[in-house]
Amino acid sequence: MPIKISHQFDAGAIDVLRADAPSAIELNIRKDSHADITQWFFFRVQGARETALTMRFLNAGQSAYPDGWKDYEAVASYDRETWFRVPTSFDGQVMTIDHTPTHDSVYYAYFEPYSWERHLALLDSAQLSPLVQLVDLGSTIDGRDLNMLVIGNPAAEKKVWVIARQHPGETMAEWFVEGMVEALLDPANPFGRQCLTEAEFYVVPNMNPDGSVRGNLRTNAAGANLNREWMNPTMARSPEVFLVREKMHEVGCDLFLDVHGDEGLPYVFVAGSESLPEFTAEQAAAQQKFIADFKIASPDFQDEHGYGATPFTAETLTMGSPYVTHAFGCLSLTLEMPFKDNANDPDPEAGWSGARSAELGKSILQPVLQALRAQ
Ligand SMILES: [Zn+2]
Repeated sequence: MPIKISHQFDAGAIDVLRADAPSAIELNIRKDSHADITQWFFFRVQGARETALTMRFLNAGQSAYPDGWKDYEAVASYDRETWFRVPTSFDGQVMTIDHTPTHDSVYYAYFEPYSWERHLALLDSAQLSPLVQLVDLGSTIDGRDLNMLVIGNPAAEKKVWVIARQHPGETMAEWFVEGMVEALLDPANPFGRQCLTEAEFYVVPNMNPDGSVRGNLRTNAAGANLNREWMNPTMARSPEVFLVREKMHEVGCDLFLDVHGDEGLPYVFVAGSESLPEFTAEQAAAQQKFIADFKIASPDFQDEHGYGATPFTAETLTMGSPYVTHAFGCLSLTLEMPFKDNANDPDPEAGWSGARSAELGKSILQPVLQALRAQ
């Protein structure tokens, strides 16, 4: 039976160069739909049961983050529920996956996908809680709904904003939000309960619906990197940021988390707003306290490895987290999770995963609660 490779499904993305021999499959990582960025892949292989596959990604060296392929292992799944890592190597130009599937159909991806269907299911189940309002902020360029969950007591003065997947291929960010929302709505979770007495939560589980379904790593349907649009978003180019930013200015913001994945570093870390010229000692102390509390709440979080000091440039305020500190003066962090694994506590089977991201999402409520009480 011949090998068949397909990608016409939610978030599917690959260019097939040749697939006539299982030992010499040649692929290119596909560009984002409207931008010159290659990194995300997700495809299905049929007809290779008990057949050794060698899949070479010829353009890996030209991808957006070639460092992302060093010490990286791709994920695979037979049922799109359980994902596992498969042997992967990178020679500086070509990335190669060697794997022998044990079933007729197998999926391979850059990271455990978070489907549009699961996104809708997250919204559906959350709205059944009496604590939740499901809000439609508007429509994306492709006509998808940009939805937000408003959770908790509208009378609470403090407003916490959490957004995820500005970069749509960073699916771990929505796994994180799923875990956080679950903890917030769990009547047995004391951090969830206490957080909701302190603040109202504004949660945008997927900031980039079009990019997610199109299988983009970093951009929306207009080719915009949403995390460079915060100074001057427009409805034509970046409606997702325009609509969320407008709502933030309407209701206010006392704590902001922008959730991402990092292609290179095998660690969980945050980037703060310390590069802002107006950053005060008080803001620095609040940021440090959050980091210290988060380390206690989750052993997966650390602050030894990260981006380090970055200078303030014209680009800084185009990014969500520094923009929010600048506009609202509040604690505001970009949270990064690995595509690879947590090198401090690796899992050879799954690497960093949806499940670990969700656990991290639950644990964030502990430092959030401490930060709200300290305000
Ligand atoms: Zn990102």
